[in-house]
Amino acid sequence: MTLDLNNPDLMREAALVGGRWIAGDATTGVAVTNPASGVVLGYVPRLGAAETLEAIDAAQVAQKAWAARTAKDRSAVLRRWFDLMMANQSDLAQILTAEQGKPLAEAAGEIAYGASFIEWFAEEARRAYGDITPGHAPDKRILSVKQPIGVVAAITPWNFPNAMITRKAGPAFAAGCAMVLKPAGQTPFSAIALAVLAEEAGLPPGLFSVVTGAARDIGKAMTDSPIVQKLTFTGSTEVGAKLYAQCAPTIKKLGLELGGNAPFIVFDDADLDAAVEGAVIAKFRNNGQTCVCANRIYVQLSVYDAFAEKLAAKVATLPTGNGVDKGIVFGPLIDEAAVQKVDEHVADATSKGAQVILGGKSHALGGTFYEPTILTGVTNDMAVATEETFGPVAPLFKFETEAEVVALSNDTEFGLASYFYSRDHARVWRVSEALDYGMVGVNTGLISTAEAPFGGVKQSGLGREGSRHGLDDYLEIKYICLGGI
Ligand code: ADP
Repeated sequence: MTLDLNNPDLMREAALVGGRWIAGDATTGVAVTNPASGVVLGYVPRLGAAETLEAIDAAQVAQKAWAARTAKDRSAVLRRWFDLMMANQSDLAQILTAEQGKPLAEAAGEIAYGASFIEWFAEEARRAYGDITPGHAPDKRILSVKQPIGVVAAITPWNFPNAMITRKAGPAFAAGCAMVLKPAGQTPFSAIALAVLAEEAGLPPGLFSVVTGAARDIGKAMTDSPIVQKLTFTGSTEVGAKLYAQCAPTIKKLGLELGGNAPFIVFDDADLDAAVEGAVIAKFRNNGQTCVCANRIYVQLSVYDAFAEKLAAKVATLPTGNGVDKGIVFGPLIDEAAVQKVDEHVADATSKGAQVILGGKSHALGGTFYEPTILTGVTNDMAVATEETFGPVAPLFKFETEAEVVALSNDTEFGLASYFYSRDHARVWRVSEALDYGMVGVNTGLISTAEAPFGGVKQSGLGREGSRHGLDDYLEIKYICLGGI
């Protein structure tokens, strides 16, 4: 392991179960590898149902005491956690890049973004207002108070190993809930480092557990548990649907952030250079491995060639390599399966008539590096039109009218992020309202922030993360009827 950390204890080869650290080792543990080099970074313990139940029991006890504290008190602990994350930003970024592959600058950006959810919800913790409604009878008053849901289970993905955790943990702890987390197998060290800092910040033992190991067993123990009142999951629609079904017998609350198939529309009245810049961010951030990445780029006929040319010229200047090296924009893909999917999508498109104007194959660097790719002449019968590629492939579709492109954009079972570029104000309103998506970026390719409600419609999920609505997802409304007045 070649990490150069100021605080080496942040890279801890151990899980945290009910306040107890359990070490992982090379013989029984799960190896975590660096996708840029294939080198093993370390081991985490291979835990299962027993440890998950232990964590849930501890969470139940810790949650009661945590909820009984004042919101201001909980807020102060979260604020310390935020401060510690920012003080350790560079170490956390190094760990993240080592296990996930994204360039160091992007990883540091994710740490700041991840920390911002803890900061935001530290502030929101004190604003869980209820209300009093005039009663329906002269001697009665209607009170609504908000109370924490209780013990929450969380399952998170590898593409944002830090931020996908904090935007669940922030509102959960702010509301007064406890959380048992299963991080992605590829990226557990970022989650563990967060737990190390949470302990230091004063989060009480048992309130936050990080259980590593067998995804299915841990997930099943979580969903079967009558103690767990809510499951929050970010990942694929396929796994999300399974977990949804598993939660049915115990009627859990659900927060689901699932797949997307984001359209990115460039109208002919757009500022083309701004649209190119936005497309680079929306398509290629994290090497195309985000659920809000532009998956289908629709360009109006009259500006299609110019846009394709400008986009290719821009992307061609962006370097690929190991994320720890200076100036790198494209790191490796997360694993072989990811490369295979990208390859399949490119092969499918070209076999049906698409042209490769940039990239189109595995990178000369080898491993899981892939050339940033731009395809023109893309049509609706190609896999890229309906499936999330989750890689650095920009397929450019042609369209003629606004009505046509809105219909094409909405013709998917997904509804997470969407983007469009236009300078016509009436169109901006019309299209924003017509897109069947939880989020619309207008003249921007970057929409995620702690202050905004992130979430999808249709098969992209349930609930919202971030914003003041994000706190509500971890609160129950209790109605108290006050009689005899
Ligand atoms: P991705 O394609 O991002 O890996 P997944 O949905 O496969 O998306 O994984 C997201 C998270 O769900 C990861 O933490 C993974 O370990 C976990 N996971 C995958 N399958 C299951 C399952 N059957 N039960 C519980 N968790 C699962």
